[in-house]
Amino acid sequence: MLHVGINGFGTIGKRVADAVRVQPDMTVAGVAKRSPNFEATIAVDRDYGLYAAGEDGADPFASAGLDTAGTVRDLVEASDVVVDATPGGVGETNAALYADYDTPAIFQGGESADVADVSFNARANYDTAVGADTARVVSCNTTGLSRLFAPLQDAYGIEKARVTLVRRGGDPGQTGRGPINDTLPDPVEIPSHHGPDVQTVFPDLAIDTMGMKVPTTQMHTHSVNVTLESEPTAAAVRDLLSAESRLFLIPETLGIDGAGKLKEYTRDAGRPRGDVWENCIWAESVTAEDRDLYLFQAIHQEADVVPENIDAVRALSERTASAEQSIRRTDAALGVGR
Ligand code: NAD
Repeated sequence: MLHVGINGFGTIGKRVADAVRVQPDMTVAGVAKRSPNFEATIAVDRDYGLYAAGEDGADPFASAGLDTAGTVRDLVEASDVVVDATPGGVGETNAALYADYDTPAIFQGGESADVADVSFNARANYDTAVGADTARVVSCNTTGLSRLFAPLQDAYGIEKARVTLVRRGGDPGQTGRGPINDTLPDPVEIPSHHGPDVQTVFPDLAIDTMGMKVPTTQMHTHSVNVTLESEPTAAAVRDLLSAESRLFLIPETLGIDGAGKLKEYTRDAGRPRGDVWENCIWAESVTAEDRDLYLFQAIHQEADVVPENIDAVRALSERTASAEQSIRRTDAALGVGR
């Protein structure tokens, strides 16, 4: 049984902890937090073992009536692997702590790529993280693009990818984010930083990206054009993508016209928090014209990196035979692709 510590128990950390909890080969060693907010009470309700990440120890939790099991140092020492899910840029400041205890660590996409030995996506480059000391699970957008490009690259070769990312303004709990009534080129510089991030996973991929921000908290939407090295039919591409457990081709018959209905669908299905772990590709949008492929996909920013974190834990710990085995195990335990 792998003991997994989670440092940072917010949007991503709480989902990773719940995902660890249902894996047959992992258990939650504990979660570390700074503030005694509502998420801290959830950690206690779930019996995760709450550790204080603040510099002044357990004080903020004690005054809020929450018992702690120790400090973040105790958690790192007790863990086989740590998942750092602190806000972007904070993970980097924790790297020395993990190194002090020789505890393999996973960082998130808000960190710069040089925080870790490898930038990780299970479908694209699982093997590069096997036995590494550290890995960075790439951002929600880069995860969504990597899952799509890996099978296209394997089957047809990619000459060049061009993507416009229409990004949600903030997560539902991020009350201070926006815009609330505008459509922003964001970043206004072209190409955006997303392409170089994808190249941390696919170093040789030619890709240009443009970003926008819009007033929704639901999901990101990608408008994708890939020039392939061969000329498959749209039907062949649909078959290829449908065979991937983390790609969901939305059938026309479901009547799902956007992220709102996608989230409603997963809530109706009883998914925890209405999470959509898979890329959601509109099947009718998959269009092939000569070597150019076009499609739209929606990415649930709070959820798609969660299965990838679980696979990264297995890769660092070297306890699983292959990417396929880890992906299958993660998906079966969580319910991905069902
Ligand atoms: P969040 O703000 O929701 O959660 C961060 C948590 O870390 C909070 O509970 C906060 O109290 C805690 N924290 C703050 N400083 C800490 C410290 N020094 N030690 C321990 N805990 C501390 O952030 P998030 O959205 O979960 O993002 C975490 C990481 O995941 C970032 O790198 C982000 O870029 C990345 N990410 C976020 C999303 C998303 O859409 N939310 C998607 C993919 C990747």
